[in-house]
Amino acid sequence: MADPVLNLSPSPGDEVKTTTCYMCACRCGIKVWLQDGKIRYIQGNRDHPVNQGVLCAKGASGIMQHYSPARLRKPLLRVGERGAGEFREIEWDEALELATSWLKPIRERNPDELAFFTGRDQSQALTGWWAQQFGTVNYAAHGGFCSVNMAAGGLYSVGGSFWEFGEPDWDHTRLLMLWGVAEDHDSNPIKLGLGKLKQRGAKVIAVNPVRSGYGAIADEWIGIRPGTDGLFAFALAHELLRMDRIDLEFLVRYANAHWLVIDNPGFPDDGMFARDSDGNALCWDAEANTPVDANRIDISPAVVGNYTLADGRSARPVFQLIVDRYLDPQYSPDAVSERCGIPASTIRRIARELAEAAFDSQLTLPIAWTDSWGREHAEMVGRPVSMHAMRGISAHSNGFHTCRALHLLQLLLGAVDAPGSFRYQPPFPKPIPPANRPGKARKADGLLDAAPLGFVHGPEDLVVDEHGQPRRIDHAYSWAYPLAAHGMMHTVIRNAWAGDPYKIDTLMMFMANMSWNSAMNTGETMRWLTDKDEAGEYRIPRIIYSDAYASEMVAYADLVLPDTTYLERFDAISLLDRPISDADAASDAIRHPVFDPATQDGEDGQPRDVRGFQSVLIELGARIGLPGLLNEDGSAKYRDYADYITRHERAPGVGLLAGWRGEDGNSEGKGAPNPDQLQRYIEHGGFWHSPVPASARYFKMANRDYLQWAQRFGFVPTAEPIVLQLYSETLQKFRLAAQGHGPQQPPPEHRQRVATYFDPLPIWYEPFEHDQTSRTTFPLNAVTQRPMFMYHSWGSQNAWQRQIATRNYLYLHPDTGNAHGIADEDWIEVTSHNGTITVQAKFAANVQPDTVWSWNAIGKRKGAWKLAKDAPEATKGFLLNHLISDVTPKGDYANADPVTGQAAWFDLRVSIRKADTQADESAPQFEPLHFKQAGERPLRYGAALRESRSRRHKKETT
Ligand code: SF4
Repeated sequence: MADPVLNLSPSPGDEVKTTTCYMCACRCGIKVWLQDGKIRYIQGNRDHPVNQGVLCAKGASGIMQHYSPARLRKPLLRVGERGAGEFREIEWDEALELATSWLKPIRERNPDELAFFTGRDQSQALTGWWAQQFGTVNYAAHGGFCSVNMAAGGLYSVGGSFWEFGEPDWDHTRLLMLWGVAEDHDSNPIKLGLGKLKQRGAKVIAVNPVRSGYGAIADEWIGIRPGTDGLFAFALAHELLRMDRIDLEFLVRYANAHWLVIDNPGFPDDGMFARDSDGNALCWDAEANTPVDANRIDISPAVVGNYTLADGRSARPVFQLIVDRYLDPQYSPDAVSERCGIPASTIRRIARELAEAAFDSQLTLPIAWTDSWGREHAEMVGRPVSMHAMRGISAHSNGFHTCRALHLLQLLLGAVDAPGSFRYQPPFPKPIPPANRPGKARKADGLLDAAPLGFVHGPEDLVVDEHGQPRRIDHAYSWAYPLAAHGMMHTVIRNAWAGDPYKIDTLMMFMANMSWNSAMNTGETMRWLTDKDEAGEYRIPRIIYSDAYASEMVAYADLVLPDTTYLERFDAISLLDRPISDADAASDAIRHPVFDPATQDGEDGQPRDVRGFQSVLIELGARIGLPGLLNEDGSAKYRDYADYITRHERAPGVGLLAGWRGEDGNSEGKGAPNPDQLQRYIEHGGFWHSPVPASARYFKMANRDYLQWAQRFGFVPTAEPIVLQLYSETLQKFRLAAQGHGPQQPPPEHRQRVATYFDPLPIWYEPFEHDQTSRTTFPLNAVTQRPMFMYHSWGSQNAWQRQIATRNYLYLHPDTGNAHGIADEDWIEVTSHNGTITVQAKFAANVQPDTVWSWNAIGKRKGAWKLAKDAPEATKGFLLNHLISDVTPKGDYANADPVTGQAAWFDLRVSIRKADTQADESAPQFEPLHFKQAGERPLRYGAALRESRSRRHKKETT
């Protein structure tokens, strides 16, 4: 019998606060238990829609993130040479005055001289708006080097995307294909979902050159060669077409399979949709034998054939073009097998399994619903095949089209938002492409006419000058990278250094380790950051940087604005930014301070004087005089970020948070600002959750109830159905421009490129680095994967996460090692066209033999992050980034996708050889940073807790 005195379930602390995790991009709900004002325990919040109580290793070690010795303490002003890490601490007033004195004249002179780029910023609804207020076109967050191919590929095809904005139907899918997914933004939901699939015996196939992360528990691993996913997808499409296992009804009802495409080579209408005088797309009615409005439902649309329009032009349905292209023998399993590294028999079998799961499983859900045309359906017919994809397929120079290829495959199977398939999460689907276009014109008050990031609908939306040359410092939305919907952070430092297309004055960055693991060509990037002109002035005149920790990038700033930890500030996880909805509900959330940072001393016992970057940005904006941040009398409009979250309206009734709006707090979605809104969130566990009506949960692109619900929330402008775009007229507009049609045409140097890569149907081509380097000289692919236990670069200085790994290796298949005379744990040289690194090899059989790989971002620079100078992260850890060039081997373009500008991290080709000297340190090494070190004092988190517990115990017993 249990001892009645013994408490078998003691409370983890004396106080608990519910907020949102920031240890990765998943944004789970957490409960932070405090004891005597210190964090005792972080627990998953069972009520939270994202994680339902699940907490991962990263989330739990948020404690050590908060107590990290690397936390910055006060604003810093550079005193030594840029890059050395020598600073003097200053007060906030001085820091803000200095920043204002730099930024205010820029806004008056030419706002584009400010380049404002943020990293894994979860407040882009604020930072993008702030840039618009400032009037600079030079703003972006880190999506351009993360997965914009995924976002753009999806949004220009199906009005939604994988990433964290769509999900497999975990409750009904019978076959899930994971493409290029290791650990992911949608971390805990995927783990929960995979658990459900395992319980139900559904099959999981992981397509990835490395079997790590979720792939480790997959039923089948396809060790594909990097950069060939699109080819594999086409071979699957080829087989489905050959077997006639296609959901034609779905394609005609929800997509543009039957729309007629004009066949008129050499003329400006070639490849455009045939339209009637009202602009409606036409299809061919096979019964009436005449062209009709393709959106009508009382017709018999033809999907194959060649037709003559009333004016004599000929036209073919989109589906005919698909058949012509993908049934071509070049995409047969036998033809692609060797390049992809997948046996043809496996490709054929997987195509059969996809078709069986989609069409033979007879999944129907007894949910009555009404489609956009008013037709009532008694049930929802499922296609229980789903896909999820991420950076592995998108971080290639052919990534945009590869993402489109996966959506093509899903559409052929009818597996988009059907029961059992990929599902949209509100606010998706959006009209294709989404309505918001990139801002580029400045209004009289200096404001940009729209937020700097948006979606290009045609050449007229490019941000170029009258000669067709880039107007943005990163060259996003130029003819070189027209659909760069997330900007191109990876090109900013080189271009700012080179003054291409112009010199900037100030580079302001937040949470972006651009001198280290977030940079390609790391060594050169450090040089560009510190290079001086003939007059002895830095080529990038001023750098302002905000970070919570002493990262490598801090050393390159002139002015450092110390951020809080994620437990010390307000944040809005906004539907205007990166929503956390699931397929069955719209959600948003907040972070709120678990502590006041003023009470949280640094590791040296000294008080910290740090401020949340978002609040600093608001104060800075008011000091500069940005219109949206001032009252009419010129006083500051908002006290801080919390005040902005509560009172700011993006449009009447629309603010950063959708819950508890209206003066009485009873509205959701739209409503007047509610002064108690944040308190209501706090009382409700930090999140808001509004279920999608039961009849609206599938076929959202053409479900009347869903679209009306979404319109009420402002997710879509009208309740019109969203037609999924197998064939993209937007892309064809660019191709026509490159062929010499229309008022906006690319400069001669880009014509061939635009004409080639703006194919309205998905294409596959060799990644640029594969094509432009010798396969004999560089026979191997090299990629990185994100470990399950670390996400941000800050994870590898977190004391608990460091207990799992303090350094990385280059992993290679034992056969690959043997073929190169390399033994397990030998030190080896790895060479690309951009340089050589020396690292330690480790054998691992979980990799496709002509690929080598490593964990991402564990390697640190000596002296950074306040780690000891001999920390393994610095002495043995390494980055592949040193090998990755920021430009193609030819040097003609950024090392990026030609459509979206996404950084092509995974195009890297290398050779390996055993190092002549078996040294015990990785290379290159750089001059240690001169940050004040944390000292020898070990972290004594447990001891401190024990002391506090015993103090409490004494107090209670006396
Ligand atoms: S999955 Fe990400 S957000 Fe969720 S607990 Fe883990 S680190 Fe935190």
